[in-house]
Amino acid sequence: MLSNKTAIVTGGTRGIGRAIVMKLSQMGANVVISYRSNEKMAQELVEEITSQGKKAIAVKGDVQNFQDAKVLMDKTLDEFGSIDILVNNAGITKDTLILRMTEDDFDSVIGTNLKGTFNCIKHAAKPMLKAKKGRIINMASVIGLIGNPGQANYAASKAGIIGLTKSVAKEFASRGITVNAVAPGFIASDMTDKLSEEQKSAIQKNIPAGNLGSVEDVASLVGYLASDESKYITGQVINVDGGMVV
Ligand code: NAP
Repeated sequence: MLSNKTAIVTGGTRGIGRAIVMKLSQMGANVVISYRSNEKMAQELVEEITSQGKKAIAVKGDVQNFQDAKVLMDKTLDEFGSIDILVNNAGITKDTLILRMTEDDFDSVIGTNLKGTFNCIKHAAKPMLKAKKGRIINMASVIGLIGNPGQANYAASKAGIIGLTKSVAKEFASRGITVNAVAPGFIASDMTDKLSEEQKSAIQKNIPAGNLGSVEDVASLVGYLASDESKYITGQVINVDGGMVV
C-alpha cells in the first residue's frame, strides 16, 4: 500500500511514534526514525524493521533546531530519494499551573511541539511541492481543543499546531499534498505513565469508551491519512479519544 514511499516519523523511537513507525513499515514504506536522545532504542528499532526485510534508518536531532530539521530531510533524500510522508509526532509536556510555569517551561514546550512541527514542514515543503504529492500528519491533542489546568503551554502548542495545519493545508491543497492533524485523547504511553493512578481514574471517568486508548489506535488513523485512500481529506483535525471530546 505504501511501497516505494518514504515516511519520516519524528520522535519515532517510543510511544505513539514507535507504533506509527511500525504501522507505516508494515504498510510497505521505508521509514526514517527521528530521535533526540536514545541512540540504542533507535538502533534496535532499525534492526527490528530491517530484520523483517523492510528499510529503515534513524537520524539523531532536535526538532526545535532549524538546522537539525534540515539535516533530517537531507539525510532522508540522500538515502531514499523522496519524502512522501511526514509525521510530526515529537512532543513533550512540562505541566504546571500558570503561576508556577517558568519561561523555560513555556519556551521548551512551544519550541518542541509547535516550532518543531514548523521546522520539519518548512524543510520538507520544497521536495514535496516539487514532487506534487505528499502527506503531512501533525500530532495535536484534544487538549489543544479544550484546554486543561496545568497545561497552558502544552494546550497552546497543540492549538498552534491546529492553526498551522489548517493554513498549510490551504497552501498545499492544489499541489497534491494533504495536511491533517490527529488529536489523541488519553493514550497509554510514557507521557501518560507520569500521571498518578488517581489522575488516571479521574480521566477515565470522562471517557465514554471507559478506557485509555492504545498507541495502535492512533497509528491506525495515521496509516489511513498516509495512504492514497485519504487523498480528498485535508485541513482536518481528527480525534482519537474514545468519545472524550465530541
Ligand atoms: P513519548 O512517549 O513521551 O515520546 C515522545 C517522543 O518524542 C520520543 O521519541 C522523544 O524522543 C521525542 N522527542 C521529544 N522531544 C524531541 C525533540 N526535541 N526532538 C526530537 N524528538 C523529540 O510521547 P507519546 O505519548 O508517544 O506522544 C507522542 C505525541 O503524541 C506527542 O506529540 C504528544 O504530545 C502527542 N499526544 C500524546 C497523548 C498521550 O496520551 N500519550 C495524547 C495526546 C497527544 P527521546 O526519547 O529522544 O526524548
